[in-house]
Amino acid sequence: MTRLSRRHLLKTGAAALGGGAAAGSTLRAQAGQAPGVLTGTQTGRMFRGLVRHSTTLDVQELKLLAVDPRQVVIRSQAVAPCYTIVRGALSTNNIRRAEVPNHCGFGVVEAVGKDVKRVQVGDRVVVAGTSQCGQCYQCLHGRPDYCQFTFFSNAPGVEPFAPFAEMRDGTKVYAQAGIGGMSEIMTAFEEYCVPVFSDLPAAQLTLLGDQLASGFAAGHADMRFEGGSDVAVFGCGPVGLGAIQAGKVFGAAQVIAIDPIKYRREFALKMGATIALDPVAEGDGIVERVRELCRGPNDRRFAGGTTWGRASNAVISRGADFVVEAAGLQTMPPKVEPQPDVTNVKTVLQAWDATRAGGHVMLMGFTLQPVPFPGASLALFGRTIHPGQQGGLHVMRDIPRYVKLIEKGKIDAKSVITKTYTLDQSVAAIQDTADRTIITGVIEFS
Ligand SMILES: [Zn+2]
Ligand SMILES: [Zn+2]
Repeated sequence: MTRLSRRHLLKTGAAALGGGAAAGSTLRAQAGQAPGVLTGTQTGRMFRGLVRHSTTLDVQELKLLAVDPRQVVIRSQAVAPCYTIVRGALSTNNIRRAEVPNHCGFGVVEAVGKDVKRVQVGDRVVVAGTSQCGQCYQCLHGRPDYCQFTFFSNAPGVEPFAPFAEMRDGTKVYAQAGIGGMSEIMTAFEEYCVPVFSDLPAAQLTLLGDQLASGFAAGHADMRFEGGSDVAVFGCGPVGLGAIQAGKVFGAAQVIAIDPIKYRREFALKMGATIALDPVAEGDGIVERVRELCRGPNDRRFAGGTTWGRASNAVISRGADFVVEAAGLQTMPPKVEPQPDVTNVKTVLQAWDATRAGGHVMLMGFTLQPVPFPGASLALFGRTIHPGQQGGLHVMRDIPRYVKLIEKGKIDAKSVITKTYTLDQSVAAIQDTADRTIITGVIEFS
């Protein structure tokens, strides 16, 4: 028997031990990949991408600029535009710098900078909307959802990321948020790249960079749904539907879906919601409706009843155990039913109010105006507000888990893709996302 030294093991990894079946196959797959060294030949490479520049949004011929030693060059396979980018992308104001929209993507690594360690040439990678560097203060304190590589501060006028390409006329092009995604070639710092070892279609895996992963994480990563619990989800778009699927996977007793758009309510019921409510029809009674649905079989204090005593005092003990606010700001008028509350201020308060005393609520949607929480209730009702930044997703920990859940049929990433596009149809993909006529649109690169 060959004697394996500790030094030898450190140099060669688990492959030297034979490993388990899964680890062994992964390592074998990697063994055939080309060495991960950037040769410099990538600079000057031509490709196409959607660019928001001056007053326009269109597909441009682009030339790749020099790549940072810690950046990864990725050939895009699929990308899903996020609702948060639609207004900026589709508006016609004159913008100061040209950029490729979006903040996530998926593809195959074609080259890596000399300092890149996480991925190799040939790897399939999710480029996530949040980094996980593993070394910053936030990562070291268990909050990579606030990794400082994503949430850095930079001096006014200093561009945090250099342009990655230029147009034929020499205009420098940036990637939105340093990530972009809607171009045939992406360059991303390795901190955003999550290698995945799966044969799943790129169109499904790209949803793990942002919307679906964020929504699912709402019930899994920080705020953890419990079996037999009552869950309510405000907003049944790509994010809310992820939270609804988490409710089903983690065994919620009921999942209450709330959305003004009829086809989205019907879709939510197919994805695991047990009841779907229209916030327009319910009006200001929506909170009381959720509380009623979560009332339980009786009001007997000594038998575990949810309310007891005078109604005014007892009412706070009713409500859902877990609430997700995934409606967000309506930034453009949709072609389907509009939100009853375009600012999202009221919806945030309703989500908070629909949470039982001592329950948990995650606020995921953007709200630009101040939200007037009643101070005494905020202090005394014991509702834990969880941060909704990507649902608390730890990208390196959670995305590989979600890949497995898709492979096992637990997460349905296929059905939520209701339309696919080519790069030349990418403006339509953003418009449809703004119009809310689709759940998730995916641009597939040929
Ligand atoms: Zn997003
Ligand atoms: Zn970090």
